[in-house]
Amino acid sequence: MAVLRKRNRREDQIFVEGNIPMEYLYTVGPTLEPFFRKLKDKGEFNGVKCGRCGTVYVPPSLFCEACFEKMTKNVKLPSKGILESYTVAHYDHLGEPLSKPEIWGLIRLDGADTPFVHRILGDPKNVELGCQVKVKLKAKAKRTGSMNDIDGFVPA
Ligand SMILES: [Zn+2]
Repeated sequence: MAVLRKRNRREDQIFVEGNIPMEYLYTVGPTLEPFFRKLKDKGEFNGVKCGRCGTVYVPPSLFCEACFEKMTKNVKLPSKGILESYTVAHYDHLGEPLSKPEIWGLIRLDGADTPFVHRILGDPKNVELGCQVKVKLKAKAKRTGSMNDIDGFVPA
């Protein structure tokens, strides 16, 4: 059978069951590694500022989405910001009911132009659009260098 020939009948299909052992190493890359390292080691937020248009990205990006400039200027940002949007989830990703509702928000740190998604901690009754939020980090010994080093954001 030629490689490009299409099989149209299901009974012609060949199924092979089994496992393929795979090893891999995932890295976050040269742009995000300093961000996660600073978050893990110092509990600080590091962003990048575009040298051409001034847009500040958190988490950092290699190139500016607005003007395509390569970004190299790191900026330190505070651990507080604005809740730009949010939703209250009552079911998990498998469709199972949660024991209590979770709040997921779009947070833009003060001084940043780009928001990111994270948990909002607390009662949904105390959350409103545009409210100030501040970060709640995991204990330093429990941080691993990921967005999960952040427990969530608390309305300030
Ligand atoms: Zn730019």
